[in-house]
Amino acid sequence: MEEVNLKVSSEKFLFGVLAFFSIISYIVLIVSMVGLVYLILIALTILITKGIFIGNIKGNAVKLSPQQLGDIYNEYEQMARQMGFDEVPDIYLIQGGGLLNAFATRFIGRNFVIIYADVLELAYQQGMDEVKFILAHELGHLRANHLKYRWLIQLGFMIPLLGQAYLRACEYTADRYGAYYSPKGAVRGLILLAAGKKLYNNIDIDQILKQAREDKGFWVNFSELFSSHPHLVKRIEAVKEFVRYISPAQENSEVFSVESV
Ligand SMILES: [Zn+2]
Repeated sequence: MEEVNLKVSSEKFLFGVLAFFSIISYIVLIVSMVGLVYLILIALTILITKGIFIGNIKGNAVKLSPQQLGDIYNEYEQMARQMGFDEVPDIYLIQGGGLLNAFATRFIGRNFVIIYADVLELAYQQGMDEVKFILAHELGHLRANHLKYRWLIQLGFMIPLLGQAYLRACEYTADRYGAYYSPKGAVRGLILLAAGKKLYNNIDIDQILKQAREDKGFWVNFSELFSSHPHLVKRIEAVKEFVRYISPAQENSEVFSVESV
């Protein structure tokens, strides 16, 4: 695949800018011996914190497999293979107290996907396409190497707002992955995150898109500058455009019909 460019161009540009400043900062820190000591201490702190985090996930979360929630795992594995993963990232289910979320993470060269129980419950109720969109979004972060090279650009995050702009671009990229591998679940998967699994079926997509076009005041834009994620209504608008671009036939049929799941 990937004849369609899934990585948004602003992401590549911002990565370059962050890498430039970050590498200069690394060089300055390494040549000043005190800086090098700080760098090693920070790296060790991050390693230990992340190790404890992953240890807690492995100890408390439910690992999906062909024998554990196999129907969802099989869909996930199949999608990961389609996306070009030789080694399918381990996927864990955690109970998030009603939160609708998922994330991808990485620890010592291994990829992990963690998904909250409330999202997966939906797969059993009605919305497998939406769940697939969310899973493909997380796999997209890994496939696009958003985490693999984070250390390289990390020091560039000291520049105010630049790191957040890069992270938002990464979200648009991951949404494209999600939409590419689950076009039917794309818009509705994001509406699910915005409105919750009880109400999302009742949300009018045209009104959301109208909201995205009309609510563009100063504070809306200003608040987004500090956020690692673009505003959901903008993501919905972008993903709808992208689905129209990759599959014009679907756009007018079942993809956006409120009844179809
Ligand atoms: Zn994301």
